[in-house]
Amino acid sequence: MITDKDIQKKQRLDFTSAWTYDPAPESSDHVTISDKYDLFIGGKFVEPVSGTYFATVSPSTEKKLADVAEAGEKDVDNAVKAARTAYDTYWKKMSGRDRGKYIYRIARMIQERAREFAVIESMDGGKPIRESRDVDVPLAAAHYFYYAGWADKLDYAFPGRKTQPRGVAGQIIPWNFPLLMAAWKIAPALATGNTVVLKPAETTPLTSLKLAELIRDADLPPGVVNIITGAGQTGSAIVNHPGVDKIAFTGSTQVGKLIQKSLAGTGKPYTLELGGKAANIVFEDAALDQAVEGIVNGIFFNQGHVCCAGSRLFVQEGIADALIGKLKDRMETLIVGDPLDKNTDIGAINSRAQLDTINGYIETGLNEGADIYQCKCDLPSSGYWVKPTLLTGVSQSHRVVQEEIFGPVLTIQTFRTPAEVIEKANNTPYGLSGGIWTDKGAKIFKISTKIRSGVVWANTFNKFDPTSPFGGYKESGMGREGGLHGLLPYVELI
Ligand code: NAD
Repeated sequence: MITDKDIQKKQRLDFTSAWTYDPAPESSDHVTISDKYDLFIGGKFVEPVSGTYFATVSPSTEKKLADVAEAGEKDVDNAVKAARTAYDTYWKKMSGRDRGKYIYRIARMIQERAREFAVIESMDGGKPIRESRDVDVPLAAAHYFYYAGWADKLDYAFPGRKTQPRGVAGQIIPWNFPLLMAAWKIAPALATGNTVVLKPAETTPLTSLKLAELIRDADLPPGVVNIITGAGQTGSAIVNHPGVDKIAFTGSTQVGKLIQKSLAGTGKPYTLELGGKAANIVFEDAALDQAVEGIVNGIFFNQGHVCCAGSRLFVQEGIADALIGKLKDRMETLIVGDPLDKNTDIGAINSRAQLDTINGYIETGLNEGADIYQCKCDLPSSGYWVKPTLLTGVSQSHRVVQEEIFGPVLTIQTFRTPAEVIEKANNTPYGLSGGIWTDKGAKIFKISTKIRSGVVWANTFNKFDPTSPFGGYKESGMGREGGLHGLLPYVELI
């Protein structure tokens, strides 16, 4: 017998398959990518002492975009010395008002070159242009605007106290939000009077190097911001350089622990923004269609390359079938492919190494007994891709539930009571973010205060604002970035 539910499902599928989109690629004509990039030290681009370069490739085409300098210890030393000279000569003597003007200028210039930054971010990192254009670049500009506003108001940020900059900040960032992570780091450091040595991730150096060009064009005093490229060894040289007064790191928990060990006993202050394994909790009284959008946004957009991705879904038992059915229908409408196409929802996995990691986790999940559902979409023939994936039939002890996969893979578990889901949600080494979907305000307050995470969204997911602090509990890190709290790691209060 055909039920109403079957008819509705068929109508939904007919509706979704009726929509096919012609390609709508964003033009890359207005973008200039040089064949080779040097290190930005002391306001100039300089060759690395060793003369070594490495290639950065587009993960959607596997074609080389540029050669990028690899900074060795001597280059790191030169960058730190340039930052120290700039600190002593100009930046610590400059009024907050004047520092603010420079930061406002950076913000405005990012807005002026927004399209160029968005296209390069998508080419180098693989994320859909819709996301780099609508999220990464505007949010990066917003962080500079926000912290520019604090530069001459530090007395009000910490009433009754005076602030002193720490000096030279060493900053190391990951590949998932390159321009935005650079903004999270550079903007508060400059606003509080510090100078900077920043290293982007080795797979996504291009927007940081474009930012270096912008900073040069903005006439910042030479050496106030130095941007050097390289991999783990370069990062380690920054961390261990005695001339660096403060470390700000965003990346994996594994590397965060190494950094913490190297800094133990040095007295050097640090902030660590590390991995996550967010629980996204849907109660029976939630608006299901809205929740489905939040789940999709939370784990599939940006290929799951989000530290706070809602990678563990907990559904209350009574609505599990209905919700998972709607989720599968929605997954069939997702467009996976060319990051520069404006219709694309899900772009390329950032690197071959990350692709192997994600596929390895899917295999582990299956070996542990999980059931898999992947959307039926076609994948491009070259580049690094993973179909949006659900893993059901998993339990708390499964590795795919405990460990960060950092890809478009969602584990699904059910629960009966609030106490059960709180227990399960908190049962990982991480504590970065979480989400709750319910009709009841009281339930939001009750559950969110019991989830051990730096941020818990209610009836939404992955919303960011420069005025709001962000950071983790447990192995998700220490310290906060963003908002007033984000100023504190860069100052000594006297
Ligand atoms: P990663 O730790 O491998 O690398 C991050 C950066 O550290 C890169 O620039 C890398 O070159 C550098 N690095 C590597 N080894 C180093 C060492 N020994 N010493 C110093 N620097 C070193 O991380 P990734 O794969 O680039 O990024 C993904 C990770 O970042 C995920 O775990 C994600 O959750 C996390 N992340 C966290 C946040 C947050 O705000 N909490 C935001 C974005 C990403």
